[in-house]
Amino acid sequence: MIDLSRRYDVLVIGGGNAALCAAISARREGASVLVLEAASEFWRGGNTRHTRNMRCAHDSATASLTGPYTEDEFFEDLLRVTGGVTDEELARFMIRESKDVLGWIEAQGVRWQPSLGGTLSLGRTNSFFLGGGRAMLNALYRTAERLGVEVRYLSEVVDLEIENGMFLSATVGREVPVRVTARALVAAAGGFESNIAWLRQYWGAAADNFLIRGTPNNRGTILKILLEHGAQKVGDPTQCHAVAIDARAPKYDGGIITRLDCVPFGIVVNRNAQRFYDEGEDIWPKRYAIWGRLVAAQPDQIAYVIFDASSLRLFMPSLFPPIEALTIPELATKLGLDAEALRRTVETFNAAVQPGTFNHKILDDCRTAELDPPKSHWARRIETAPFYAYPVRPGITFTYLGTRVNREARIIMSDGRPAKNMFAAGEIMAGNVLGRGYAAGIGMTIGSVFGRVAGREAARNARN
Ligand SMILES: Cc1cc2nc3c(=O)[nH]c(=O)nc-3n(C[C@H](O)[C@H](O)[C@H](O)COP(=O)(O)OP(=O)(O)OC[C@H]3O[C@@H](n4cnc5c(N)ncnc54)[C@H](O)[C@@H]3O)c2cc1C
Repeated sequence: MIDLSRRYDVLVIGGGNAALCAAISARREGASVLVLEAASEFWRGGNTRHTRNMRCAHDSATASLTGPYTEDEFFEDLLRVTGGVTDEELARFMIRESKDVLGWIEAQGVRWQPSLGGTLSLGRTNSFFLGGGRAMLNALYRTAERLGVEVRYLSEVVDLEIENGMFLSATVGREVPVRVTARALVAAAGGFESNIAWLRQYWGAAADNFLIRGTPNNRGTILKILLEHGAQKVGDPTQCHAVAIDARAPKYDGGIITRLDCVPFGIVVNRNAQRFYDEGEDIWPKRYAIWGRLVAAQPDQIAYVIFDASSLRLFMPSLFPPIEALTIPELATKLGLDAEALRRTVETFNAAVQPGTFNHKILDDCRTAELDPPKSHWARRIETAPFYAYPVRPGITFTYLGTRVNREARIIMSDGRPAKNMFAAGEIMAGNVLGRGYAAGIGMTIGSVFGRVAGREAARNARN
């Protein structure tokens, strides 16, 4: 039985990677730790359940990584994807720590495996969890429980008592609220991606058509309370990781299997059967994360990837089968598009395709001429029946707005002073490192590095 009337050293809010890293780390520092997770035990672990890998710097190849990935290269990659919108000091700190975290995570029972096929060519840079994110989480929970961390499920925190940057207590549960006290707080309760009303403030009605790839529990309740109590805000609220996912995916928790990687192999049209962006601009790992925003900007936030039989086997299959037809007009009718408009778009595209040698593994020379927007690589005529389409919508992975932290993962208040006993890790502070853009696997790096630091510092704080 968990005794909620007891005053814990460290209270961790959340049940994903960041929370568990913090809980284990605090417990290993000798603190008594309570984890409050909104989800049930089966659904525990938020977005972390869906993950497959994490990006850590390393100086040489390992049993599961094909070569070195230096701190400098990691930082260069981060600069490129964020366009420089990152806190350089924190980013460099995170990257340096990530080297050690690779071994630390393993020491908590997590096992690695070589990169999976069809996973954005990450074999050198990213470590893959054996059994995926759920297995990774199970290992962390097992270790936490073995160490004596107490975990309470179905325990949504709905309010925090904070005075002058000092955490005093949390209120758990809506129907029968219970007050929980602790000497220090680690907020690891995710972003606000599942809160459609909050997203609507920035995206307008378009937000109603967004699909949320992960947990329905990351509604930003804790983030909002912290900001209302004077935590300094970091990041742009419209910035998030958003990819194109199958429009038939469920509203929440569709996970990785609803993502579509077929964009470079065909054309993408909107509801008016018009193309709107270069589908072959760059290799897919560098472009997959822009398509959520691109589709979000289209009428009704829907688009259709159109390709033919020659491309069907070139990408990872997803959960839903493509929609199939023997002619382009028939395909249009099945999609509810104007048949004549789609026929014209495909015909115009086909006429613009230049001769070249198709190679989907490199930036090949198959391109269009005098077409706006162009298709810069992998442009092949769409002419071999049957024809296929996937309807796509913006799939929001996680938001970047967060609380500012320092290198101790300590929350910085709006007057610039560090909070007395409040720390944050994971999505809730991702905006410190990710001002915009994304490099695959960095979400878990942010959670693991800052989770470990937050737990340690919260435990030390509680002792003093
Ligand atoms: C489909 C998908 C695939 C992904 N793949 C990868 C990948 O391979 N590599 C990678 O690096 N990143 C990936 N990500 C991103 C990654 O999931 C996140 O960056 C990471 O898991 C964030 O960890 P976290 O602990 O901050 O949040 P989460 O794991 O989402 O945990 C947040 C927790 O807080 C709990 N919570 C929320 N509000 C409350 C409250 N008020 N009270 C109590 N508990 C609360 C939630 O129930 C949840 O358990 C993926 C995301 C998705 C959706």
